Amino acid sequence: MSKRDYYEVLGLSKGASKEEIKKAYRRLSKKYHPDINKEPDAADKFKEIKEAYEVLSDDQKRAHYDQFGHTDPNQGFGGFGGADFGFGGFEDIFSSFFGGGGRRRDPNAPRQGADLQYTMTLSFEEAAFGKEVDIEIPREENCDTCHGTGAKPGTKAQNCSHCGGSGQISIEQNTPFGRIVNRRTCPSCQGRGTIIPHKCSTCSGTGKVKKRRKIHVKVPAGIDDGQQLRVAGQGEPGVNGGPPGDLYVVFHVRSHEFFERDGDDVYCEVPITFVQAALGDEIEVPTLHGKVKLKIPAGTQTGTRFRLKGKGIPNVRGYGHGDQHIVTRVVTPTKLTEKQKQLLKEFAEIGGQLAPDEQEDSFFAKMKRAFKGE
Ligand SMILES: [Zn+2]
Ligand SMILES: [Zn+2]
Repeated sequence: MSKRDYYEVLGLSKGASKEEIKKAYRRLSKKYHPDINKEPDAADKFKEIKEAYEVLSDDQKRAHYDQFGHTDPNQGFGGFGGADFGFGGFEDIFSSFFGGGGRRRDPNAPRQGADLQYTMTLSFEEAAFGKEVDIEIPREENCDTCHGTGAKPGTKAQNCSHCGGSGQISIEQNTPFGRIVNRRTCPSCQGRGTIIPHKCSTCSGTGKVKKRRKIHVKVPAGIDDGQQLRVAGQGEPGVNGGPPGDLYVVFHVRSHEFFERDGDDVYCEVPITFVQAALGDEIEVPTLHGKVKLKIPAGTQTGTRFRLKGKGIPNVRGYGHGDQHIVTRVVTPTKLTEKQKQLLKEFAEIGGQLAPDEQEDSFFAKMKRAFKGE
């Protein structure tokens, strides 16, 4: 398979600035991240994007690539293996990108709107089974009065005469070493390239208004604490006709009174009496899917684990169900009647207290031998 041009992969032209490369990578790798994008070729696209970025973001590698194109991966900078990012890794990749402003080259170029983040708290069961919910998020939207232009209806924004619409001005300085040209953001239009002579009164000329917007979110069954869901196109609106940003819903899952979660499996500790433990019994245990009967065999210990197949949490990617594990805890009675004490003494007298020693490899037998120095 022949490799695609790295600039093409990121949707950029050859002269793209570092900022543009970073921005394109950030947007595309989010879009194709295999944890978010479920299309079959997302993982390959993500890898391709990552590789393109690794080369183009590095001055030396980029210069080499610009000159020679794709080279032998053994001597070049290939070898981006099938790295598998969990949700944690995903966070790490992007943490360095957030909050990095930077200058824009062309003030009139289409730009993607900002991404938004929303934290949703779910109960243990809601996370396990999923739900549909409407959330309200405050976000900037295009002003309805001026349709985002910022100009009073019937008027128009005009090209900034100071900078000629480029948003930047050149300042020439004569120095003993020759003439130096500095480029600065145009002070008249603050880099926008346009001036609005008659401002829209609804938005004061910004073209944007803050609104609380109701968004329907489908929480997938099996989502876990810390995972996030991308709701495409529900971020802030784009600038100059650019696409809107995305909304990221980050989930916080509350702990449960009885259940503990490990991936798709659920653990539950169930107390049993020492009589049930010794003689065996059938008990009722709670699961996420309702109560089920469980046979406890005679001689059950504290910490014995019973697996209830398929009674766990549905896999968030649709790979079946996890299991539920019941872990027994034998409860030693603390309040005994005289009659009970008498019976237990009789039990001990007929050899009951020797029970743990009966097996040669038991903990007690081993401990005894250890203390005797055997
Ligand atoms: Zn307006
Ligand atoms: Zn200007």
